[in-house]
Amino acid sequence: MTQPSSEATFDVVIVGGAFAGLSAALILGRARRRVLVCDGGPARNAPAHASHGFFANDGTAPRELLQRAREELRPYDSVEVRSILVESASALDASEGSAAAGAGFRLGLADGETVRARFVLLAYGLTDAPPEIPGLADLWGRAVHQCPYCHGWEVRDRPLGLLGSWRTMRQRASLLRGWSTDLTAFIQDAGPESTADAAAVEIDRLARLGVTVRTEPVERVEGVGQGGLRVFLEGGDAIDLGGLFVAPNVTPRSDLATSLGCFPVEGPEGLLPFVRVNDAGETTIPGVFAAGDLLGGTQTVVMAVGSGARAAYVINHRLAHEAAEALLA
Ligand SMILES: Cc1cc2nc3c(=O)[nH]c(=O)nc-3n(C[C@H](O)[C@H](O)[C@H](O)COP(=O)(O)OP(=O)(O)OC[C@H]3O[C@@H](n4cnc5c(N)ncnc54)[C@H](O)[C@@H]3O)c2cc1C
Repeated sequence: MTQPSSEATFDVVIVGGAFAGLSAALILGRARRRVLVCDGGPARNAPAHASHGFFANDGTAPRELLQRAREELRPYDSVEVRSILVESASALDASEGSAAAGAGFRLGLADGETVRARFVLLAYGLTDAPPEIPGLADLWGRAVHQCPYCHGWEVRDRPLGLLGSWRTMRQRASLLRGWSTDLTAFIQDAGPESTADAAAVEIDRLARLGVTVRTEPVERVEGVGQGGLRVFLEGGDAIDLGGLFVAPNVTPRSDLATSLGCFPVEGPEGLLPFVRVNDAGETTIPGVFAAGDLLGGTQTVVMAVGSGARAAYVINHRLAHEAAEALLA
């Protein structure tokens, strides 16, 4: 494919303009780098009314945080923020790039434009797929939560539920006990015959921790009262809770890392939906960095902001070094 000779060139293209991406853009803008931030839509925590646990901004609405972050970028005129999806990314041929630096990358935007970048920062986050239980999606981010650090304080000392597999339930319940000791575990996979014994051992341990265990399938959930919910079990029982914590399945919001050839993170049971990076935030493809929830681990705003900034510092050092080397060559 012949590319237009007028193709815009940036030091860095940031894919995803939420917490990780905008944090990186601020550092790079202040370092006077030419940056394009492309953002394709709402951030992961958009369903939540408030974001908690972010230093000096505890309880601020996610949208307000991001609006402020975009406004803070205004003085840095080398940073351009566009509301657009990046649809493709590939390495440039060696003949297309600078000889001193790596060749760089070409990114295809949803409006058909292609741009070039010396470095790419992937900050496009994850999509949640909560269990498909009627009513649950409607309460996502309000009475149904994924993270006690984010929303545990607001429901402290209320009856709380945990939904999921017996395999991870004890670990999750041990953590949530810090916010409430009135816990009910809704175990949805008491197990095929092969795991029944192991599940029974875990269920017994949960009971010894003071956790009420229910193994009936959850039929549906419904919002009640001041931000609470009612859980309806097969067989007819209904349990009122102040909040329900679930561990959703997550998938990356784009396959750009895969198409660029970046290795995913490996877990004990296979590949995980996260991008592998080194201590500098660089993926297995030199010049491609990743930040935010895409890295897995603790997925919170403050971690996303920190990893975005880390990538930006390293990228700026590389650019500075490459420019100096080119002068000396
Ligand atoms: C319901 C809920 C509540 C939460 N509450 C809290 C909380 O209170 N405190 C806390 O610290 N954390 C909270 N979190 C976690 C927090 O949302 C994430 O850790 C944080 O959003 C990660 O930031 P990020 O920048 O990595 O990704 P995201 O916030 O997911 O942002 C990624 C951005 O990339 C964009 N994008 C995706 N694909 C493309 C593409 N191809 N091209 C261009 N742009 C693209 C998306 O539109 C999005 O704007 C919550 C999460 C959920 C689900």
